[in-house]
Amino acid sequence: MSKTKKILILLGISFAFALFFNLKSYGYSWPIADSNGKVDYQSTYIEFGYGKRTYTVDNNLWKQEGSYCKTENHYGVDITGKPNTTYKIVSVSDGTVIGTSNNRASSIGISFQNNNIRRGNRSGDGGGYGNYVLIKDNDSDKVFLYAHLAPNTINVSRGTRVKLGQVIGTMGSSGDAGHMHLHFEIRRNISSALASPKSTRSNLRLTTRFDYESNLSETINPVKYIYTYQMANDFVTDLYNNALGREPDAKGKADWIDRIMTGKFTQSQVVQGFINSNEFKNKKYNDSQYIEMLYKACLQRNSDSNGKAHYIKCLNSGISRENILNRVANSSEFNNLCTNYYAKDFATSLYKNILGRNPDYNGLKGWTANITSNRLTPVQVIKGFYNSAEFNKKKYNNSDYVERLYRGCLQRNSDVNGKKTHMNLLNRGVARDQVLKGFLNSPEYRKMITKKYGLSNVGL
Ligand SMILES: [Zn+2]
Repeated sequence: MSKTKKILILLGISFAFALFFNLKSYGYSWPIADSNGKVDYQSTYIEFGYGKRTYTVDNNLWKQEGSYCKTENHYGVDITGKPNTTYKIVSVSDGTVIGTSNNRASSIGISFQNNNIRRGNRSGDGGGYGNYVLIKDNDSDKVFLYAHLAPNTINVSRGTRVKLGQVIGTMGSSGDAGHMHLHFEIRRNISSALASPKSTRSNLRLTTRFDYESNLSETINPVKYIYTYQMANDFVTDLYNNALGREPDAKGKADWIDRIMTGKFTQSQVVQGFINSNEFKNKKYNDSQYIEMLYKACLQRNSDSNGKAHYIKCLNSGISRENILNRVANSSEFNNLCTNYYAKDFATSLYKNILGRNPDYNGLKGWTANITSNRLTPVQVIKGFYNSAEFNKKKYNNSDYVERLYRGCLQRNSDVNGKKTHMNLLNRGVARDQVLKGFLNSPEYRKMITKKYGLSNVGL
């Protein structure tokens, strides 16, 4: 058989396989690249998450508005990077462009020094979004919005088919941007008038307002699908621990993180990569151990007796281990774990940094659900840990208490001066709750919570 023929047959088989299992063959990329188009997830970061956000407007453009604190709903994430750096915007998936607004808003230079100044022309066609690109995902009903791009840099137009990781423009500050960043949204059930590439509607601002008000378009927290560097790092580290029973090596970990962040692999494919590795196979687990490991690696829990019995029965009837792995790594439980990972990852950090232990399954599940359902804000969750009976039982002295505040709220050890300041407050009789509040209203906390988990930066 000729080489081409072989490749064609292989392609046919994998295509049929993908159709049959409705599997996504690649993940979602981080949407920012360096000036050469290489995805850059290390020097860029989320500065405002999805949901309620708070910030100070120091308004030099409309001086009559003055300087004020603003809390509002944010329907996407804002991603920015190093000052005076050119960043490209890349498509997070294969898709079709369904709308753009190019060259609509003027950008009055880009400066990080005055990073709260509004720039651009609000009355432009793109409205607050400035120059934007709207792309319909090939594999789902999701639509991705990339906003505030630099003028004259968008290189796609309505109807253009784009590939995962393809450059579509340059990061800018057009529209109501304030400073250079990408505003990125994921929407579902977008109105058909807008979603159709044939649509003549071009005014996204009016259409989206209509969509919000009539609930025709629903926004989704982007970090459910686009992981931050921290989340990818923790996801991979969990796998080394759970599947291979060891700490990651630097090179291996960096490679797996890159596969997630560039969208080359789905989370499901990453898990399967670990279980199908020689290192895992060399452990020569028997069937019972193998199933137990699948639960641990994929679902991050112990098996339940019914589930385990079912899979053992499958193995005994001749179904292959690969097949079982495939089912578990594409189960709704696994998918939910992946889309809720931002909350789970954050709650796990609180167990480790505040209570000094690994989470228990039910406790972690409860905190995660409280975050994903917006029943509790991140600061309320943190407060819950510090006010828990388990924490109080530790009877920490002031010094140890402050140390725990640094780890739980800022995810670092204390610095000498900072610790001294907080110790003085406590020794003067300021209540611990007040000191905690100071941590949760600090700029450092707000940056940590958005950069690492894309969570709301609203304080206590
Ligand atoms: Zn934004």
